[in-house]
Amino acid sequence: MLSSRPSAPSTDGRDQLLRRFVEAARRAQFVSLVNRARSEAELGDLLTAELCEAFEAEIAFVLATGEEGRSLVGAYGLQLPEAGRLLDRGLLDCSIEVPQRLEGQNLLSVGARALVVAPFGATTPRGVVGVARLHDEPFDETEAALLEAVAASIAHALERLRLAEELDRLYRRSHERAQAARVIDSIADGVLLVDDAGIVQLWNPAAEAITGLRREAVVGRPLQELIPGWSTVADSLLTDDDGGSSRARASAVPVDVGGRELWLSISAVGLEEGSVFAFHDLSEERKLEQLKADFIATVSHELRTPLAAVHGAAKTLLREDVDLGHDVSRQLLTLVSEQSDRLAQMVDDILLASRLESPELELTMERVDVAGLAEQVIAGARMHAGEHMTFALVAPRSPQLVAADRDKLRQVLTNLIGNAVKYSPAGGRVEVSARAEGSHVELAVRDEGLGIAPSEQRLIFEKFYRADPTMTRGVSGSGLGLYISRELVQRMGGTITVESQLGEGSTFVVRLPLQ
Ligand code: ADP
Repeated sequence: MLSSRPSAPSTDGRDQLLRRFVEAARRAQFVSLVNRARSEAELGDLLTAELCEAFEAEIAFVLATGEEGRSLVGAYGLQLPEAGRLLDRGLLDCSIEVPQRLEGQNLLSVGARALVVAPFGATTPRGVVGVARLHDEPFDETEAALLEAVAASIAHALERLRLAEELDRLYRRSHERAQAARVIDSIADGVLLVDDAGIVQLWNPAAEAITGLRREAVVGRPLQELIPGWSTVADSLLTDDDGGSSRARASAVPVDVGGRELWLSISAVGLEEGSVFAFHDLSEERKLEQLKADFIATVSHELRTPLAAVHGAAKTLLREDVDLGHDVSRQLLTLVSEQSDRLAQMVDDILLASRLESPELELTMERVDVAGLAEQVIAGARMHAGEHMTFALVAPRSPQLVAADRDKLRQVLTNLIGNAVKYSPAGGRVEVSARAEGSHVELAVRDEGLGIAPSEQRLIFEKFYRADPTMTRGVSGSGLGLYISRELVQRMGGTITVESQLGEGSTFVVRLPLQ
């Protein structure tokens, strides 16, 4: 009778089973180790050490070719130069498809006696994994098969790691791009990129703010159309003296943007995709420089005239060879006194104008009767003006009280009435009127003099601004009076305006809050 119990495996069969089991366990161990690696270097280090141990060998290595060329993924049991030389041994060049076993005396020129290599990867990354023994014990087929299995898992792991690296690189690149875009959007300099066809590809918010041209209106259009003359600037900036370098050079140039002249400091860099320009606005600095130049020109000219008069009078008075007589001497001394007053006044104006720029100038506010004050100033002006000038004060009987600094308001009125006289070379009437208008008092100084062209009416309140001398018939002045007047009136909470027509006189109106 046949027994129904399953027969126990024979001893041979058991050994075989056990061997298979051990092999499977080893393969699983290698696969898990290979999959654990987080970088190529880690994969190389872990795997080669483990191979030596599992194969009871002294040397193990993994070589690969990728998009960036040949590389040593890892090596165990070799000095670094020896490991490096493995790349030149042709192991990566021969197109072996199955594991190869070799025996010899000095394999790989490192004294190895037995070697087994297995290829991996049909496409990149492609490579070989090898194990070598320094002692005389050839590798058997089972070991070659195990190495083949390890090689297959290396190919997958390398592909996975390289994909992860690529992803990482892409992520970093997009992150860097986003960061660069944020920087370009937030810097104070205008940045623009024009492609080789001269079309604007990038226009940052600072470029919008400086030029007043919106991004939507600029990007995609030829720069030459938007800012005529830019290409001349660009050509000069991008022309290299030293052939093809992309160093940025800056230069200050005037450009016409939408009919406005802007002084820009522009630097340019030539890139493969076009040219990048960075620019900032120098218009304010230019204006300041212009103002400084105007100041020096005006002041030196205005100081020279009274100085020359004082100098001439003093020289004449010192002459011993001429008897000037009492009357002439008095006239000359009066001239010296008047001209030195003028000089002192000018110096005071310059000092006051510079103090007006700092907050330190303090006003002493009090109740001031404007009509009374105007009367005093008119009296003073009448003494100096010739007979060709007449003055009138038009004001209600009741006092018009404003909150003001009396001395500073006197200075404003003195300047306005002085100008009315100065710019009426043919004489005429100067009328000062004061009347309440709602919560304000309006003080008007009207003359019948030269008048002011409409284009100048806003500018005359600027520091050092003087109208065209041909229009003011060479009347002298520092260009500070109206600037000082406007600043003082504003600090007293008021406004100053002008109405005028060339040849028909001017009216300056100061409005101050009623007390
Ligand atoms: P200045 O009289 O010293 O030149 P101001 O600041 O007082 O300086 O005046 C600025 C300019 O305004 C003068 O140069 C002149 O051209 C013009 N201006 C001022 N007041 C009058 C006026 N009443 N009539 C005509 N032009 C005037």
